[in-house]
Amino acid sequence: MSATSRCRVCAGSLAEFFDFGRQPLSDAFVRPDDFADEFFVRLAVGICESCTMVQLMEEIPRDRMFHEDYPYVSSGSAVMRAHFEKLARRLLATELTGEDPFVVELGCNDGVMLKAIADAGVRHLGVEPSGGVAEMAHAKGIRVRKDFFEETTARDILATDGRADVIYAANTLCHIPYIESILRGVTALLAPTGVFVFEDPYFSEIVERTSFDQIYDEHFYFFTVRAVQAMAARFDLELVDVERLPVHGGEVRYTLAHAGARTPTAAVAELLADENKRNLAAMPTLKGFARNVERIRDDLVALLRDLRDDGKRVVGYGATAKSATVTNYCGIGPELVPFVCDTTVAKQGKLTPGSHIPVREPSAFAEPYPDYALLFAWNHAEEIMAKERAFREAGGKWILYVPEVHVV
Ligand SMILES: [Zn+2]
Repeated sequence: MSATSRCRVCAGSLAEFFDFGRQPLSDAFVRPDDFADEFFVRLAVGICESCTMVQLMEEIPRDRMFHEDYPYVSSGSAVMRAHFEKLARRLLATELTGEDPFVVELGCNDGVMLKAIADAGVRHLGVEPSGGVAEMAHAKGIRVRKDFFEETTARDILATDGRADVIYAANTLCHIPYIESILRGVTALLAPTGVFVFEDPYFSEIVERTSFDQIYDEHFYFFTVRAVQAMAARFDLELVDVERLPVHGGEVRYTLAHAGARTPTAAVAELLADENKRNLAAMPTLKGFARNVERIRDDLVALLRDLRDDGKRVVGYGATAKSATVTNYCGIGPELVPFVCDTTVAKQGKLTPGSHIPVREPSAFAEPYPDYALLFAWNHAEEIMAKERAFREAGGKWILYVPEVHVV
């Protein structure tokens, strides 16, 4: 057993249930003349036999992930902007009504949530290790600390700003293997009646929809109510509310408070009962998920080969982090998908990690429209299909692979 085959939360032993094989870093887009030194990891996922936390079997060095060029920008999607602004309004109305409240956001990205907090004149601090997006947040007038959040950071913030009424993290906590340091920091920094709110992809939804592409190097943990409850208790915290969110293919927003400070809502018990009914933590369930993933791979590759043999043009849509898992696990390269369009300028002109599909600007999609578009950004399907109505009107069809391979 390697050093990382123990649970990063409780040190229990991990039971592996799926191996995606050798995978590149999902955001390591490469120049066409320069992919000799691509970095690969074994991407495999397991469940802790003690606390049931689902996690990657191997850890990726963090300085390889959240670097200056980290390309994901939260405010890129109108749906996501509305999502974060709505949460900010709710926090302002319910949690930030005391005298001089203070909000800390971990992984504030380009500051889309904190902007609404800042506009309301509320004290805030974003902690963001990726320099590029931290600069973008700063340019919006948001107070940013370019740093990783861990226990020492929390104690430092406590000394200068005092306790936080709200600590928030969206699509951040699940990325970070050293979660115990974060939670010790949260416990130290959180006001006695404060809340730690975080939202991340929901493992139950991943199993239910076989959305296996949520599993990539940057998603280290796959949370469930049961595992989050157990994790919270280890740090004198308590899970007091859960809320299912439709974004990013199905997430849960977890609210933690100091143990005993708040009464858990009925939603916590309800979602836990649902997980138990599904036998979510049982190996036969996880093995069933693994079989479904293999079936999607076989179906998708067969469809793409058939289309190629019929002389149809297929273009990829959205060179997402998730697409790295799909293309590398399924063995999809430029011979099946000649290029993929993406709005992120930093990705354009480069090749997708590992699978080496050229990334082109969005305008290439319509010059002329392909027969089929493989929608890697399926979590934004509604927004994208509305924007690209002309593609369908021109006879184009979308290929989706969650929860199974289908053409619309
Ligand atoms: Zn564990």
